[in-house]
Amino acid sequence: MLITDISQENSGYRYLPTTTLSSPNQVLLPLTAKVNSSDCLEIGGCDLSKLVEQFGSPLYVLDEETLRTACRQYRESFKKYYSGQSQVIYASKAWSCLAVCRVIDSEGLGFDVVSGGELYTTLQAGVDSGRIYFHGNNKSAEELEYAVDCDCTIIVDNWLELKTLSAIAAQSEAKSVRIMLRLTPGIECHTHEYIRTGHLDSKFGFDPNELEEVFNYLTQRSHLNCIGLHAHIGSQIFERQPHQDLAIVLVEWMRKAQEYNLTITELNVGGGLGIRYTEADDPPTIEEWVKAVAKAIESACNQYQLPLPKLIAEPGRSLIGSACVTAYMVGSRKEVPEVRTYISVDGGMSDNPRPITYQSLYRAVVANRMSAPLTEKVTVAGKHCESGDVIIKDALLPSTEPGDVLVVLSTGAYNYSMASNYNRIGRPAAVLVHQGEANLILQREGYQDLLRQDCLPERLINSDDSHS
Ligand SMILES: *Cc1c(COP(=O)(O)O)cnc(C)c1O
Repeated sequence: MLITDISQENSGYRYLPTTTLSSPNQVLLPLTAKVNSSDCLEIGGCDLSKLVEQFGSPLYVLDEETLRTACRQYRESFKKYYSGQSQVIYASKAWSCLAVCRVIDSEGLGFDVVSGGELYTTLQAGVDSGRIYFHGNNKSAEELEYAVDCDCTIIVDNWLELKTLSAIAAQSEAKSVRIMLRLTPGIECHTHEYIRTGHLDSKFGFDPNELEEVFNYLTQRSHLNCIGLHAHIGSQIFERQPHQDLAIVLVEWMRKAQEYNLTITELNVGGGLGIRYTEADDPPTIEEWVKAVAKAIESACNQYQLPLPKLIAEPGRSLIGSACVTAYMVGSRKEVPEVRTYISVDGGMSDNPRPITYQSLYRAVVANRMSAPLTEKVTVAGKHCESGDVIIKDALLPSTEPGDVLVVLSTGAYNYSMASNYNRIGRPAAVLVHQGEANLILQREGYQDLLRQDCLPERLINSDDSHS
């Protein structure tokens, strides 16, 4: 929907996508967002106030169309700009659950998993293990055995893992185990310190100085079939240069492998493309990012006269981040004269730990007052017992009342997947919306779910009133 009326720029309309052709990582609200005749926000043809009435709050609302569009833009861009084979794989740590896996699987993407639990979820969703890549810097022997048994590709991170895996592979019935090597590329980029992984002081991956030793080791291990190299430089990155630099480094390593008669046929450039959380964020489009990466790999391969590898990218945030919003109910209000006004909502750091963890910024709208002028600057606080449990500091909102539906934007990535039960608050429900239909994909956790793992030792049950 186009913003035609200037007054709407001072309302929730300012966050509506201007065209449905946008790159999903550049929109603040999902691609299907609009305002209906009751002045209420609609996503995927569903009215947010009605969704909250039906499913309760807080509620994650995931727009299928935005998610599918992001998957397609990645795949189509690789087809357009890369002449070799390519595979886009979803970094499922961004949001792993059965329904999300199925939607993404149906778009032909593969999956990156980082634990036995994510692997299990992906397999239970029906994903073919040939398209699953197992990451992690400290996989347990059980996890490695599980990965070998189900025949997914293992991205080996360090020596301990390489040796453990070699022992497992030697005993396994399978002829050989498909592996890739993760390397620390030594590329700096401007993002939050906690999510930089590419610089040499990182817990992830082999140091490039060890590469020849690793290659040498592999030449003597026929049951380990090293098909590729991997590196990931970080997350929420807006610059294209670090990914282009990475592409060149990967191709150089691929050339080095040739000296050891190892045939590397796949290069995985990781994920990391950023999304727009606020107006200040300016990421390249998915297409621009893919083009930059694909062209850098092609030109480096041409320069070294190497055949084009199968090119893998593993985005998480830029696939799902903008496809979801979180709807909360507005509750209490506290005015601290001349300092600030707090409005509290019925969730917070347990369903979105990013602000307290990374000082992440978010934008919000009031779903049932989309055209109301933004007249208040308030701090949106969560309900947890932490002063730092603030979702948005100084949010620009219309005046609100208890019961209004406050919708926080771009919560698809690293929200549900990082959610906790802090304060014994159950995780929210999630619905998938599409063409006017809303389907529950995650049930809300109730009180009984909170006790699911609790055990009471017999002697505590039978003890009489010892305090008397
Ligand atoms: C987190 C991660 C990704 C995905 O990162 P995004 O920023 O969400 O795209 C990809 N690969 C690896 C190895 C990761 O750790």
